[in-house]
Amino acid sequence: MHTLILGGTREARDLARMLTEDHHRVTSSLAGRVREPALPPGEVRIGGFGGPEGLAQWITAHGVDAVVDATHPFAERISRSAATAAAATGVPIIALHRPAWSPGPGDRWTPVPDMPAAATAAGGVDKRVFLSIGRQNLHHFAGLEGHVLIRCVEPPEAPLPADHELLLSRGPFEVAGERALLREHRIDTLVTKNSGGDLTAAKLQAARELGVEVIMIQRPEPTAVDRTVHSAAAARQLLP
Ligand code: NAP
Repeated sequence: MHTLILGGTREARDLARMLTEDHHRVTSSLAGRVREPALPPGEVRIGGFGGPEGLAQWITAHGVDAVVDATHPFAERISRSAATAAAATGVPIIALHRPAWSPGPGDRWTPVPDMPAAATAAGGVDKRVFLSIGRQNLHHFAGLEGHVLIRCVEPPEAPLPADHELLLSRGPFEVAGERALLREHRIDTLVTKNSGGDLTAAKLQAARELGVEVIMIQRPEPTAVDRTVHSAAAARQLLP
C-alpha cells in the first residue's frame, strides 16, 4: 500500500506519522514554499508536479494506491490538480481538511468572499490593520492607506502598503501573545483566511476580547473527491 499525501499542514504530518507507525509506505509531497519545512516521517518529495498531468504520471510511475489531499484549505490549485489526476488514474482520493472556524458570541466578523473584497473592507486612512494571511496574496493589500501590521513566515516579495510593519514569525501562537500584539499595535481590524484549526486560532480569541473587527476570508469551493474528512484519525480509518 503506497499512499501519497499532499501536505504542508499539521494534519498531513499527523497522518504520515499514523501510517508509518503502521508500516505503510507513505510519500508526503510539499510545495517547497518554506525554506525549513517541518518534515513528516516517511518518504518526502518537494516541488510541484507540473499540473494534473504531471501528478497523474507521478501516481502511475510510483505505484500510488491512494491519494490524500491534506493541503491547506486555501491551496486551491493543488487540490483541483489532485482531483483531476486521481480521476484520470482511477486512484481513490480522500480530502483531509480541518473544519472551518465559525463566529461565537462577542465576535465582530465581516465575512468576505476573497482577497480583493477583504482589501476593500480593510480600507480607510484611520484604520490600524493586522494582516495575517500569509505572504502570497499581499499584493491585493498594497493600496491600504492605514497602518498595516503584516505577519508571515517568510519575507514577502509583493509590493506592500506605504505605512506597514513586517513581523516574520511562525505559529503556533498563544492568546496572551496575540492580545499583547493587538494592543501594542492598537489594531482595530484583523484580516485572516478561514483556515480553521487551533494552531492560529488564538488571534480570534484575542480579537474577541479586545472588540477588534475580523475580516474573515471565506474558503474557496471544495473540489469533488471520493470522501472528505476533517481529522488525520478519520483519514487513517478510511485507509487499509
Ligand atoms: P496552490 O496555489 O494550490 O498550488 C500552486 C502550485 O504549487 C500547484 O499547482 C502545485 O504545482 C504546487 N503545489 C502546491 N502544493 C503542493 C504540494 N503539497 N506538493 C507538490 N506541489 C504542490 O498552493 P499554495 O496555496 O501555494 O500552497 C502551497 C503549499 O503550502 C500547500 O502544500 C499547502 O498545503 C501549504 N500551505 C498553504 C497555505 C495557504 O494559505 N495557501 C497555508 C499553509 C500551508 P504543480 O501544478 O506544478 O503540481
